[in-house]
Amino acid sequence: MARTAFLGLGVMGYPMAGHLKTKGGHEVTVYNRTAAKAAAWVAQFKGVEASTPREAATGQDFVFACVGNDDDLRQVTLGPNGAFAGMSKGSVFVDHTTASADVARELKSAADALGIGFVDAPVSGGQAGAENGVLTVMCGGDPAIYARAEPVIAAYARACRLMGPAGSGQLAKMVNQICIAGLVQGLAEGVHFAKSAGLDVNAVIETISKGAAQSWQMENRYKTMDAGQFDFGFAVDWMRKDLSICLAEARRNGAQLPVTALVDQFYAEVQKMGGARWDTSSLIARLK
Ligand code: NAP
Repeated sequence: MARTAFLGLGVMGYPMAGHLKTKGGHEVTVYNRTAAKAAAWVAQFKGVEASTPREAATGQDFVFACVGNDDDLRQVTLGPNGAFAGMSKGSVFVDHTTASADVARELKSAADALGIGFVDAPVSGGQAGAENGVLTVMCGGDPAIYARAEPVIAAYARACRLMGPAGSGQLAKMVNQICIAGLVQGLAEGVHFAKSAGLDVNAVIETISKGAAQSWQMENRYKTMDAGQFDFGFAVDWMRKDLSICLAEARRNGAQLPVTALVDQFYAEVQKMGGARWDTSSLIARLK
């Protein structure tokens, strides 16, 4: 059993912190910027509530975070009220935010200077994956630090793997998002075409999902896409944040991402249609 803190009780962090307590059996102190959520978590899971990241992180073996973007992450880690100011030498910070590889390397250097371990550990699997404790976790960091963190992360992970040095977890998550972007557009076009051709969409997709066109998105999203329902998880705003991270990284490493760049623009159109909080399958709404 470890002493832990969790910073950021959003859609993902709330259930992840819950699994640390109930499945992992760890001591958990939580911090959330909006205190009401931390109070609700403590009422449900019987942990401890802290009023700053520093207070939450003080005296813990592991500190976890799952906040929004690079700047949010800097706000909860750095500065006088940040988690790093409270952490002891030898403790480990694990970041589950989807952020840039740059900020992971920046925080790893800051942590190194303080004798703190740092693992960038973005997740895939969405809200359902977090609630069911079956996330996929892609990590970057030092192998010895990762080896200590992995059994604790196991409370909410189905798969967890070290990809390389600091920033590698974020780079792996970029691959994940690049693979999803083009695929969702392809699925949207397929469903749109089936309808335009006067086919029975259910019959078509149920049949082709048994063949080479099969995908998680096809199995889990085609019905709701066809029905114009877009309230099933990862929001367009978040996806645009992730794709902008991918495109910036590609400008640096020379990778060509023409379809990813195009789909990012399609998501910008969905935002203009009022779909900023719709889930990522809403690409089909542009085609109607
Ligand atoms: P969310 O529901 O919007 O929650 C964000 C959390 O971060 C909230 O607890 C928020 O606090 C906190 N936060 C944001 N900015 C902060 C700041 N400057 N200082 C302190 N706390 C701050 O988001 P989410 O869906 O849980 O996503 C969290 C991260 O996981 C994002 O990087 C996202 O891309 C990634 N992710 C999400 C999914 C998904 O399906 N949702 C899947 C994979 C990865 P408040 O309560 O005060 O706003």
